[in-house]
Amino acid sequence: MSIQKNISSLAQNIPSNVHLVAVSKTKPIPMIQEAYEAGQRAFGENKVQEMVSKWESLPKDIQWHFIGHLQKNKVKYMAAFVSLIHGVDSLSTLREIEKQAKKHQRVISCLLQVKIAEEATKFGLPMIEIQKILFSEELKKMKHVKIVGLMGMASFTDDTEQVAKEFRSLKDFFDQTDLAVLSMGMSGDYHIAIKEGATMVRLGSSIFGARN
Ligand SMILES: *Cc1c(COP(=O)(O)O)cnc(C)c1O
Repeated sequence: MSIQKNISSLAQNIPSNVHLVAVSKTKPIPMIQEAYEAGQRAFGENKVQEMVSKWESLPKDIQWHFIGHLQKNKVKYMAAFVSLIHGVDSLSTLREIEKQAKKHQRVISCLLQVKIAEEATKFGLPMIEIQKILFSEELKKMKHVKIVGLMGMASFTDDTEQVAKEFRSLKDFFDQTDLAVLSMGMSGDYHIAIKEGATMVRLGSSIFGARN
């Protein structure tokens, strides 16, 4: 299958209210170009340096989503152009995003990453900690950061009921907020995520093929 065919078949299969982020991490420029020519505009990367160099060489109307674990000292490299940061999990990271966004006179949209998987390895904060950030006085004062939604990753398991349960818990929490974006679902579990209410899915291998 070609990248172009993968994108058009996904476009047909994903409901129109669900935003598709093409996860292009590790993939070379020509492959991203091909997806771009098929109409794809939102791309996800998990390494800041890699995202910066791709941003430099690709069309400027691409929306770059940062989906990796964010180190504070890397925020400055992407503050000029990043369109959405998915994995924010602390006030101190938000503070740094605020500082760097201000330098560029931008407002950077962010998602808070919620820990929903039972596995110990996944990043993210328990819901109670997310609440604290959402209601904090400090966040209210930040003029260059906008929390637009939540992001979560389910356990890596064949147990689809477990995955559905984890996504459902995130959706229930999301419904108690007035946030707009719910980023959940990857190539292996996006059908479940959409069924459970995702508004954004992050797909890599189902578009570009397996990574090494
Ligand atoms: C790599 C990655 C994806 C995409 O994974 P696929 O299984 O290739 O679709 C989605 N979200 C995050 C956070 C990732 O790191």
